[in-house]
Amino acid sequence: MAINIECPVCGNTSGKKVSAIVAAGTSSGTGSGSVYVNDEWHNVTTNVNTKTSLAVDLSPPPEPNSAVLSCIGTIGIIFSALTGIVSFMFLNSEDTGFAIGMMLFCWGLGAVLALLIRVGNAKVGKQLPLWERAMECWDQLYYCDQSDTVFNSVTNEHFPRSRWAMENYLESKSGFKLK
Ligand SMILES: [Zn+2]
Repeated sequence: MAINIECPVCGNTSGKKVSAIVAAGTSSGTGSGSVYVNDEWHNVTTNVNTKTSLAVDLSPPPEPNSAVLSCIGTIGIIFSALTGIVSFMFLNSEDTGFAIGMMLFCWGLGAVLALLIRVGNAKVGKQLPLWERAMECWDQLYYCDQSDTVFNSVTNEHFPRSRWAMENYLESKSGFKLK
């Protein structure tokens, strides 16, 4: 794989690796303005560092995981199983019909939750290889601040810098959907 860090839009070769920009979380630029000192206006130029929207725009897609779903689902299953058992203990009381109904409802709910967790995990399992492909592609990206362009150092594809463009590009390369 030949790596070409020349910007395909403006030819600038001072592009920075996108992963390095995001890791740093900051971007630097030059700002200019005027200050009034000793009855006179002075033009000043200064380097500014900002915690940026640049790093946000260039960030990679988050790794898919189903931990939250599994956690909430498991708590739900335990709760419905316990409620089911409590209902079972009321079986010999006067309200047998209600106790049986309640018990079946709770255990049914638990079964549905278990199924949801399975489906959620399967979905994440399918997304993971796509996400890995997106990350591989993301790792080839460079950013040129002269033309505000993101470009692929291997394929020379390029797009204007924005969160939207980044997500679309990675999705088109990997099939990984962010939303
Ligand atoms: Zn450029």
